[in-house]
Amino acid sequence: RHPFKVTVIGSGNWGTTIAKVVAENTVQHPHLFKEQVEMWVFDEKIPKEDNPEEFEMLTNIINTRHQNVKYLPDIDLPHNLHANPSLLDSVKDADILVFNIPHQFLSRIVENLKGHVKPHVRAISCLKGFEVGRKGVQLLSSYITDELGIQCGALSGANLAPEVAKEHWSETTVAYQLPKDFRGEGYDVDHRILKVLFHRPYFHVNVIDDVAGISIAGALKNVVALACGFVEGLGWGNNAAAAIQRVGLGEIIKFGRTFFPECKVETYYQESAGVADLITTCSGGRNVKVAKHMAKTGKDAFTAEKELLNGQSAQGVITCKEVHEWLDTCEMTSEFPLFEAVYQIVYNNVPMKNLPDMIEELDSFV
Ligand code: NAD
Ligand code: 13P
Repeated sequence: RHPFKVTVIGSGNWGTTIAKVVAENTVQHPHLFKEQVEMWVFDEKIPKEDNPEEFEMLTNIINTRHQNVKYLPDIDLPHNLHANPSLLDSVKDADILVFNIPHQFLSRIVENLKGHVKPHVRAISCLKGFEVGRKGVQLLSSYITDELGIQCGALSGANLAPEVAKEHWSETTVAYQLPKDFRGEGYDVDHRILKVLFHRPYFHVNVIDDVAGISIAGALKNVVALACGFVEGLGWGNNAAAAIQRVGLGEIIKFGRTFFPECKVETYYQESAGVADLITTCSGGRNVKVAKHMAKTGKDAFTAEKELLNGQSAQGVITCKEVHEWLDTCEMTSEFPLFEAVYQIVYNNVPMKNLPDMIEELDSFV
């Protein structure tokens, strides 16, 4: 029963921001949560400012200076947030796991966690992406549930991390379904507990049960944002960017309807995780920046990511490949022309200026 111990797995740009949010709330609600929040850090050496020949471990910097100088610079972190370089030690007594890492690292982390997470533990995935493997295309929350045997929901919204970290107001959506073995209010995680854990005066949370809807929207808007970056980088302006978002929203909803019929169409329109996240990511996200850089310099996506993001990840680059592989398996690439066009531009050097022809809805008048 509560108070629940919370661990955040991940400490990148969004991982550190969400850990800050959670740690601010655990202090304010000691009857519901243990005050100290563990944050697992994939530790690395950071060159010292006064002598770049010498290094300090990132974990040590976070625990002493209370800032993540590499992935969230200039933001003060709560002192009850403890950075931990050991994955297994950080989850040792956890009741709630908040997964928040770039999704390409999830399978290795989950593999390492197997056998170390008790069945009563509940999880929330803040990741945006899919797992494509022997089970086809899978939501990351379902992947976590299948691999670790724990109930997992999702958090997704129009949430550029630097803005949330600066406590500029935004909204988000948390989605969670009570497990079959729900142990009862006070003893288990429910919608109320999740609201208290994530809601801040500057970060407004709506809790729903459509895990699939918010996860699909969150993963696929990163692919649409790449297309948006291409047309912006080509200098085509706002009309072209709006056209991409219109087509993109249609393909996101179609993808959900086709492969995850349980998701609700209204989630895309009514929730922060839906169209609002598409708009914010296409305006100022890392995916759009990487794609613009590709358009302006002719460099490939991986080089652009390295040059611009200082170790952060533009998840659309991997997601467009995962989506292509899945659609190819289903022989449905032609039904999602925007997603396919992004894949062809990123991986097969198809010229970006062909985008309008590639996504044109052919009709009998032209
Ligand atoms: P990030 O892009 O800042 O990635 C850097 C993190 O990856 C660092 O913590 C680094 O240590 C870690 N990393 C690097 N190599 C690793 C490895 N081999 N194994 C494990 N970790 C490794 O990460 P982020 O911004 O925190 O994003 C996490 C998830 O949240 C993503 O799925 C992203 O789409 C989503 N998201 C991000 C934002 C945002 O604005 N940053 C907002 C909402 C959602
Ligand atoms: P980027 O990864 O493109 O920065 O998008 C962040 C995000 O998911 C905003 O909600």
